Parts: sequence; structure tokens; C-alpha cells
Amino acid sequence: MSDDLQPETLAIRTGIHRSQFNEHSEAVYLTSSFVFDSAAQAAARFIGDEPGNIYSRFTNPTVTAFEERLAQLEGAEACVATSSGMSAILACIMGLLSAGDHIVASRSIFGATVNLFNNILNKFNIKTTFVSATDIKSWEAAIQPNTKLFFLETPSNPLTELSNIIELSKISKSNKIWLVVDNCFCTPILQKPLELGADIVIHSATKYLDGQGRVLGGAVLGNRDLLMDGGIFGFLRTAGPTLSAFNAWVILKGLETLKIRMEAHSAHALQIAQWLESQPNVARVFYPGLVSHPQHELAKQQQKSGGGIVTFEVKGGKEAAWRVIDSTHLISITANLGDVKSTLTHPATTTHARISQEARDVAGISDGLLRIAVGLEAVADLQNDLARGLS
Ligand SMILES: *Cc1c(COP(=O)(O)O)cnc(C)c1O
Repeated sequence: MSDDLQPETLAIRTGIHRSQFNEHSEAVYLTSSFVFDSAAQAAARFIGDEPGNIYSRFTNPTVTAFEERLAQLEGAEACVATSSGMSAILACIMGLLSAGDHIVASRSIFGATVNLFNNILNKFNIKTTFVSATDIKSWEAAIQPNTKLFFLETPSNPLTELSNIIELSKISKSNKIWLVVDNCFCTPILQKPLELGADIVIHSATKYLDGQGRVLGGAVLGNRDLLMDGGIFGFLRTAGPTLSAFNAWVILKGLETLKIRMEAHSAHALQIAQWLESQPNVARVFYPGLVSHPQHELAKQQQKSGGGIVTFEVKGGKEAAWRVIDSTHLISITANLGDVKSTLTHPATTTHARISQEARDVAGISDGLLRIAVGLEAVADLQNDLARGLS
């Protein structure tokens, strides 16, 4: 299956391996190990002469089903699932890089990713230079002889800055650097980085792929060579941050509704963004689907629609921002995103609180900034909920 099927069909009809019971909905295989017919078969499996499951830290049928389905959606040769988005990023780095290697990363990435690069990888002599998401020249200028990897998110969190994947991939390819794109905000429904020239796609499956805020999960996707021989799968199977079968099953079922959810998230978010732009107490709205977004043209080329995340700056700094949050009755005060339930976050004091004030200033995370992950509630109800604290 693949090339001629549409994404919604791939999300529903791939990765299916029925058991002897011929179940219609995919089964979940909650087992840590698998039984062999004989000593010889056990030996053949362990040595790799015979394909098949051994132990769920290595492979599990439910996890494999999720990997196959997500690979189809991203147009990737291979996928390895991980226990979270952060472990997907860690596995990618541990698999591909060695001590002494260098990363060039967008400054506008998830807070925990910044911490991973600065405070953990740094200890193992893997250094990172942070550059502007949007200024391609700064990426080129940051390349060192030991630079092995470019890392970015587009649109970025929380300012929805776009990085031009095609342009960056030209630079990365000519310098033999791997381009890694965290595709969490768009999902393959709205953006396919591998088609645009990326080598690796990262997912926090915790977000839109699950879609209902139930479980943690992650994935790394790319060519078989890079994932299998490149050491990413080897790191996972040895170090153990693999996806649990139960979580894989939840996300596998989540994928089945991904396309209609992403379209609805985008449609609702655009309406919220346009409405926020008309509010007198809102200084600025950041949303790629708005004509006022500085990279709206790039968004139209690179993404199918704007996605579900809208960031806006209220007049009056932290106090005013907190008032909006504390006046909501409906919208959840939580840092999660990609859920059918809308969520509202104050990045400066939550997701980005652990980075220095100076780094926040450079990244543009002001005290008045709020990020709403627009869910699937009625837009009018969300507007009323936000209007209370904005008036
Ligand atoms: C949430 C998130 C992550 C981390 O994923 P977890 O599943 O929470 O580990 C990475 N990147 C982005 C863009 C995210 O939003």
C-alpha cells in the first residue's frame, strides 16, 4: 500500500496485521517477551537470521503497527517509536552523533529541547550553536568543520516562526549535515519535511498524533540506513526509551482521525487568530495563516494550513496575561497542546521559565505573550472565554 492512497486512507488502512482471531479494530499486544518454537528458533531470532519479535524493548507488534502507519503518512522509509517526543530527539542525537560533534539549532525550539542541548549534551562534549529560525544566512555562518546536524521546528513554539525547509536543506546537503525537523506542530497532514529535503522527522506523538491528551509517545522517521545502521534504533533497543504497546495502540487509533482533526484545528485557529487581531487589548497575533504573519507566503508554500497554535501578546505584560488565563472557565490552564480541549499557556513563566531572561528576550518570549492551542470546541465559546480576561 502507499503511493496512490490519500492520507486519510493511509491513516486508517495501513499497519494492519490481524491475529488468528481476525479482529477488525487493531489488537494491543501487552506482552514483554515472545515465545519461540525451539532453541534453534530462539538462536535464529537473536542473531537476526529470522525476523520476528523477541522482547518488547526491541520490537512489539502494536508498536510496529504504529511505526508503519506513521511512516506511510510522513512518506518515510522507516520509523522508530519512542516513549516521548524528548526521547525521540535524544535517540536521534545519540544514534547519529559522537562526542566532539556540533549542532546548529534554531533558537525558537521547545524549552526542554534547549535544555537537552545546553545542559545534557553539553556534558558529553556535543556543543550547540543557536541561530535565528528565519535567517538562513546565520545557519550557514554557524557551520563548523565538526557540524553534523541542523535542528529546527517549524512553525516554532511559541512564536510560530517558520524556517524554510527547502532552502536549509540545500545548505545542509552541500555541507554533509543532517537536517532534522521536529514536525510536531504540523503533523504530516499539514507538512511533509522529508519531501522538502529534511533527512529526519521527529514527533512528539503526545500532541496531535494522539490528539486527546492521553499518553506520551514519540517517533523518529527517515531513511532505513540512517535509522537502522545510523544507530538510532540501536540506541533505543539498548538504552530502552521505547514506546509501550498500550501507548502505541492509543496513538495508532488517534492517527485514524488525524486528518479531520488537523483541518478542524486549523480552521478554528484561523478564526480565533482573526478575532484576536481585532481586540483592542491585544498588541500582536502570531499565526502563520494570518495575512499579517511576516512569513505568510512561505507558510502557504510549505504547509497546507496554519495549524492549531495561536500566540498573542496582550498589552500590560505578565499581569494582563495572567488575568486572561485566570478569567477562563472553559479553556484548560495546561502546557499541553494538540488536544481536542483548548489549552492556554503563559510561556515566560511555564514552558520557557527555565531559560534565562536574556535568552527569552533574544527569542522574543515577552511577559505579555500567551499561547493558545486551539481545540475543537465551538469557536464562539472559546472567544467568549477569552473575551472575559481581555476586556
Ligand atoms: C511537546 C514537544 C516536545 C516533547 O515531547 P514530549 O512527548 O513531551 O516528550 C518536543 N517538541 C515539541 C515541538 C513539542 O511541542
